[in-house]
Amino acid sequence: VKVQGKNGFLRYTPEMSRNHSERVDLDNELRIAIESGQLTLHYQPQVDIRRGRVTGVEALVRWEHPERGLLGPNTFIPLAEEGGLIFAISDWVLNEACRQQASWIKRGIVDLKVAVNISPLEFTRADIVERILQPIRTHQLPPESIEIEITENMLMDDAETVIAKVQELRTHGLRISIDDFGTRFSSLNYLRRFPVNTIKIDQSFVRDLETTGSQSPVISAIVGIARGFGLNVLAEGVETECQIDALRLHGCDVMQGFRFSRPVPPEEVVRYIAAQQAL
Ligand code: C2E
Ligand code: CA
Ligand code: CA
Ligand code: CA
Repeated sequence: VKVQGKNGFLRYTPEMSRNHSERVDLDNELRIAIESGQLTLHYQPQVDIRRGRVTGVEALVRWEHPERGLLGPNTFIPLAEEGGLIFAISDWVLNEACRQQASWIKRGIVDLKVAVNISPLEFTRADIVERILQPIRTHQLPPESIEIEITENMLMDDAETVIAKVQELRTHGLRISIDDFGTRFSSLNYLRRFPVNTIKIDQSFVRDLETTGSQSPVISAIVGIARGFGLNVLAEGVETECQIDALRLHGCDVMQGFRFSRPVPPEEVVRYIAAQQAL
C-alpha cells in the first residue's frame, strides 16, 4: 500500500513499516540501490531576496526506485540510520554533491554554496572529518563552497565530540549550518562555543506566518540570536508571498522553499540561476 506523500513522493504506509519482512526487503533493496546508482540528488535554491540572487543550494537525496518511483528521504533515511547503511549513503551523497559542485564551477557558476545534510549518527564515526574532506580534495573544491547542515538535536547528544569535529571542519574552511533551529531545547550555550556560520529557521515557524507582516516571537528571537552571534540566518519552507513579507520585516532575507523552487535536478538549477540573473 502506497500513498502520495506531502512532497509528492510515494511513501510507505505505517502498516508496511510495521511488517518485519518488508523492512528486511527494503534494507536489501537499499543496499543494491546504493551500489547500482539508484540514488540521486535534487537541489533546492537558497535565495537572498534583498540582493536578488541565489546564494546556495541544498542537496536532498532521492531514491529512483525501479518499481516504486521516486522515493523521498523520509522513507529510507530513518531505516538506513537503524541498519547502518546511512554511512554508505552519506559517502555517496558527499561525493556526488562535490562532483556536481565541481561541474558547476567548471561551467562558470561560482559563489554558489552546496549544502549537504549530515545525519547526527555520522558524527559518531571517528573518521567523519576525513570522509567529508576526501571528496572535497578529490574534486579540488574551495572548502568554503561546501556547507554541512547539522540538526540541532545532535548538538545536544554528545556535545564535546561534535564541537571538536565541527571545529576541525571549520579549520579546514568548510561552512556549517544548524538545521531545524528552534525545534529542540535551544542551545544558546552551545552556540556560544559552536563555530557555525548559519542558522536555519525551521519551517514549522515559517508556516505559522499566515498574514503579511504577522509577528512571530520565535522568529524575532532567532533573528536576534543570529545577529548577536554574528551568524547568517535562513528561513526554510517558505511557500507564500505573505511569509516572504513577514520574514523581511523580521530582518530575515535569505529564504528557501517551494515559493522559490522545489528541489530540482542539477540542470534545472542552472536554468533557475540564469533566469534570476536576467531579472
Ligand atoms: P531538511 O534537511 O529539513 O530538508 C528540508 C525538507 O523540506 C526537504 O524535504 C524539502 O523538500 C522540504 N521543503 C523545502 N521547501 C519546502 C516548502 O516550501 N514547503 C514544504 N512543506 N516542504 C519544503 P525532503 O527532501 O523530503 O527531505 C526530508 C529530510 O530528509 C530533510 O529535511 C533531511 O533531514 C533528510 N535528508 C534529505 N537528504 C538527506 C541526505 O542526503 N542525508 C541525510 N542524512 N538526510 C537527508
Ligand atoms: Ca537540511
Ligand atoms: Ca530543515
Ligand atoms: Ca528536518
